[in-house]
Amino acid sequence: MNCYDCALDGGGASAGIGICSRCNLAVCADHARVTPVLVHRSAGLGRATADRPGRRVVCGTCHAAEAAA
Ligand SMILES: [Zn+2]
Ligand SMILES: [Zn+2]
Repeated sequence: MNCYDCALDGGGASAGIGICSRCNLAVCADHARVTPVLVHRSAGLGRATADRPGRRVVCGTCHAAEAAA
């Protein structure tokens, strides 16, 4: 899959490195925004979060939309 934002920019096809978790379009390394997410476990007593945060990929457009919200 090729990056949708690169296609919009007319810059040709860049290979996508991920899929936006919001709009499900492919994004390349330049256009992807990787944000950490805390993974909550529902394992009863004990720690509720994992040692490391998870991550999710969103495209620049969705990232800007989320930041504005
Ligand atoms: Zn791109
Ligand atoms: Zn998106």
